[in-house]
Amino acid sequence: MKARAPQLAKRQGIIFILSAPSGAGKTTLYNGLRKGYPDIQLSVSCTTRKQRRGEVAGRDYRFLSGRQFDALKERGEFAEWAQVHDYFYGTPCQPLDRAVKSGYDILLDIDVQGAKKIKSVYPQAVAVFVLPPSMAELERRLSARGTDDRQVIRRRLANARGEMQQIIHYDYFVVNRDVEQAVRVLSGIVEAERSRVSRVTEWRIEPLRAQRGQVSHEQRNQTSRSR
Ligand code: 5GP
Repeated sequence: MKARAPQLAKRQGIIFILSAPSGAGKTTLYNGLRKGYPDIQLSVSCTTRKQRRGEVAGRDYRFLSGRQFDALKERGEFAEWAQVHDYFYGTPCQPLDRAVKSGYDILLDIDVQGAKKIKSVYPQAVAVFVLPPSMAELERRLSARGTDDRQVIRRRLANARGEMQQIIHYDYFVVNRDVEQAVRVLSGIVEAERSRVSRVTEWRIEPLRAQRGQVSHEQRNQTSRSR
């Protein structure tokens, strides 16, 4: 067995949020990212919408009745919840807290309302918005699905414009023109965020073994001498 390289730093887990207007190709990017980073956990939301064919309860969502959803909401078990289209969706807070504390990263596929709320509760969360290359291309992709009529497509496009106005609340955007390229950009964001010094809770290198923020007398002297 290959020996694991000693880690020089211990860090907090990262909450990654991925949002996109319908048709921007979020699911494809999400799956692409997961292939490269199988260690990133997925947050399983609760929803009052019906289970779709191919979906697995407990893996894709926890499917709840309105009453069950309200009970969890009242017990404060959601980090955020929102009404999206005609149904309710909520992100359970326990897995998020656990991930941050234990140093695991967790990925949330939530809408713009949820992203804004999560960023207010967990300011270190990283919010990424997936953009289509253009509105014309988004319309083309929605039409190519062949599942929606003109009126539904028009509504989705209007919703997309509204959601895209919310991009100012996000940290990054990824344009999904080409899937491979977009996954590369997304992976770059993951790598950069994993390398943030401010997320390190403990250094394991001499002479930085002290907790972050506790600069030794010797280091302080060195810094002032080099100015
Ligand atoms: P769908 O029903 O098609 O799976 O998801 C509809 C929308 O709800 C998507 O934009 C998805 O990102 C969003 N969504 C899924 N889970 C949650 C959640 O827990 N909270 C919020 N705010 N949105 C969610």
